[in-house]
Amino acid sequence: MATVEEFKKELCYKADNAGATLSVEEIAKADAFAEGYKKFLNEAKTEREATQVVLSQAKEKGFQEFVPGKKYEAGDKLYYVNRDKAIILAVIGKKGIDEGVKIAAAHIDSPRLDLKPNPLYESDEIALFKTHYYGGIKKYQWVAIPLALHGVVVKKDGTKVTVKIGEEECEPKFVISDILPHLGAEQAKRTLSEGISGEELNVIVGSRPFKSDEGSELVKLNILKLLNEKYGIVESDFLSAELEVVPAFKADDIGFDRSLIGSYGHDDRVCAYPAAMAAFDIEAPDYTVISVLTDKEETGSDGNTGLQSSYLKYFIAYLAKANGLEVYQVLSKSECLSADVNSAYDPTFNSVFEKNNTSYLNKGVVITKYTGARGKSGTSDASAEYMGKIRAMLDKANVVWQIGELGKVDAGGGGTVAKYIANLDIDVVDLGVPVLSMHAPYEVISKLDLYMAYKAFYAFFKQ
Ligand SMILES: [Zn+2]
Repeated sequence: MATVEEFKKELCYKADNAGATLSVEEIAKADAFAEGYKKFLNEAKTEREATQVVLSQAKEKGFQEFVPGKKYEAGDKLYYVNRDKAIILAVIGKKGIDEGVKIAAAHIDSPRLDLKPNPLYESDEIALFKTHYYGGIKKYQWVAIPLALHGVVVKKDGTKVTVKIGEEECEPKFVISDILPHLGAEQAKRTLSEGISGEELNVIVGSRPFKSDEGSELVKLNILKLLNEKYGIVESDFLSAELEVVPAFKADDIGFDRSLIGSYGHDDRVCAYPAAMAAFDIEAPDYTVISVLTDKEETGSDGNTGLQSSYLKYFIAYLAKANGLEVYQVLSKSECLSADVNSAYDPTFNSVFEKNNTSYLNKGVVITKYTGARGKSGTSDASAEYMGKIRAMLDKANVVWQIGELGKVDAGGGGTVAKYIANLDIDVVDLGVPVLSMHAPYEVISKLDLYMAYKAFYAFFKQ
């Protein structure tokens, strides 16, 4: 006669805590993997930088630039860069491409503040940049923290200047001011979402005037002079620039046990990094595998570097055509893990989560069957058959995994690139890492969950 405990084990479902179930060796591997990830976070704070870092690693690992129209052989390793803001890595499989490809799709853009096209102005002898926020942010979180400026400026003569300032110890930082509590009574009457408005996200960039006997806007003039000396740019060059204001924080271990990582931009580098590493590490896969690290997810995947554009489809179309196939013959047989984050259960703000269907830190990668809002609106909703296939694959590879929704049914919602992949007639489900304080300037993830994401993408490619 079986005991109650034995029945429970046999019949009930409960996700494992990876910290309790993984071996000491496996935990050490996860901790080691996290060191490379932290380095990546610090080097790649924007989609352009992430593309650059992954590209240089790809070249080191023997990946070759993709040549449209060329027929590739099993084992060939390819990269394709889309406008410096998205990158595709591919390893050609032993099976024919008519059997489909395995895709891991993550995004490398993160919420931030973009400079407006004409950003620089002077107000009461302080020089500032006007910004327009990118993605879903809680605006009040972006004031009174050190900020850095990243991006590119294309000058009138067509030359491109790369800007990265505020990351090194010796470099100046930037900041958005907030009102002191002593005078904050009026501001305190605003709702939290209105606490800081979009037009109040003005970045302080200087305060010392140009030495002159007379003239107006001398602080602004002095900043322009410094920018001209350092980058060779003039004010009108801002019109053809993409400059992004991001937190100047570095990635750090969090907690006495160092189990977590605090950083800007976990969403979605925490999936992009392991998806790239899995493509780097896979040797001679059966199926052709593709990691696509895309841009523009945070603003709805529109634009030619986002996954609503056809660049991934065209890449696969070229592979298909070189093998005498139409692209749809490949797409319809293909499978994808949409590698994106989900909200980790937060014990302090637990009222927005439904405990049985939310993801937790340290319980491994989270499979999100569907996203959307207001009754699953705008989601692809993975089929039971595909869910069954993926869970069996994860179990076989000893990946710790859990299931999760983005909060309670009517609490809000969100979306990923999954639906755009699904629109190509590809089987797809979201699989990624739970994040605490998602979209904040400083987000938190678990090292074990990060490593489980790597193992999951590797197992998916290894099929
Ligand atoms: Zn996001």
